Amino acid sequence: MAEPLSIDEARARVLATARPLPAQDVALAEALGRVLSEDVLAAGDVPPFAGSAMDGFAVRSGPSRRALRIVGESRAGMPAQAAVGEGEAVRISTGAAMPEGADAVLQLELAEDRGDSVLLQDEVEPGRNVRRAGEDLRAGEVALRAGTRLGPAEVGVAASAGRAEVRCARRPRVAVLATGDELAEPGAPLGPGQIHDSNLLTLSALATRAGAEVAFSEHVRDDAGATRDAVARALETADVLICSGGVSVGPHDHVKDALAASGVEEVFWRVALRPGGPTWFGARGERLVFGLPGNPVSAMVTFALFARPALHALEGDAQAAPARSRARLADRAQRRRERDECLRVRVDDEGWAHLTGPQGSHQLTSMLAADALAIVPRGEGALERGAEVEIERI
Ligand code: AMP
Ligand code: MG
Repeated sequence: MAEPLSIDEARARVLATARPLPAQDVALAEALGRVLSEDVLAAGDVPPFAGSAMDGFAVRSGPSRRALRIVGESRAGMPAQAAVGEGEAVRISTGAAMPEGADAVLQLELAEDRGDSVLLQDEVEPGRNVRRAGEDLRAGEVALRAGTRLGPAEVGVAASAGRAEVRCARRPRVAVLATGDELAEPGAPLGPGQIHDSNLLTLSALATRAGAEVAFSEHVRDDAGATRDAVARALETADVLICSGGVSVGPHDHVKDALAASGVEEVFWRVALRPGGPTWFGARGERLVFGLPGNPVSAMVTFALFARPALHALEGDAQAAPARSRARLADRAQRRRERDECLRVRVDDEGWAHLTGPQGSHQLTSMLAADALAIVPRGEGALERGAEVEIERI
């Protein structure tokens, strides 16, 4: 049997297998959370014209105590007809275009409005309270790079850059299969030896959170024919198939055979990891398939380590691989000789990583308060309180 891969090697193989999905036009109103597959350039200067940053009077720069004749008004969206000549001023609102001839704005609070004229109560230096054209973006400048995930600010920048639509990779379509004869539907009374299926919901929720569209989710019994049939149907529509359980080598584990029957080729099997050692990954053409371990914590951890980066890579996300940072362990951690361990932790504001509770791979409540995985590298002995470890946010 091949040596289990390290977390990093396994992830590198996943990312090397995932190709961005085809791009489509997405209306900005629908684009939150999507990933750009093109650079967005500013169509023109932003702001497009020199304008006022204040309500006040557009004037020629000069000394205090000047009395100026008011010759017009420039409102937001309604520029003044008149130009500002010597001894003249134009009333102006925030965001309104600067009239011809003026090079500064004195705010209302420093001007004595006398109806037809205004008395300036401060010296006015050139450019005061004026926003120049292109101060935010210059025409033709790259406003947003391909590979950027669009948050509220990005959506707004795309709009101010002149766009109504952006090109984004299609969202990945995900199928989730939960295998196991012991699984009862949520809410169903439990028969002898049964447990409630939590993975189908959790993995679907994780996929949704990761930006994917869950197109298929089914429970399948530990039966060779049923598993083969469910895998074949799932692969008809899914870009990514995520199976939970049934991937090991027991007599009732049918997932690997079913995948082989559907023409899915193995990329790796087993990672030197706890929880989540028995993780399988393969592909059929552009379609990706994960066989995640059935234990609920293992399923969540391996989703975070491998499946989420894959989903992000399918969208062309420049940050598909999660960022690593460092934290200090608040609790002692025994090391394992042959496997890296992902502890579920909560990282406080001082950078201490606190264990969230008992760390059994069946104890899903340990995920409740967790905001990161702390990676304890394999080795001898223990890491004491205060030891620095790498963490990944989840
Ligand atoms: P398996 O990977 O199929 O050997 O399952 C490993 C463990 O995970 C067993 O204790 C299963 O009962 C449990 N398990 C498998 N699938 C699920 C699921 N969908 N929800 C909750 N627990 C599960
Ligand atoms: Mg099973």
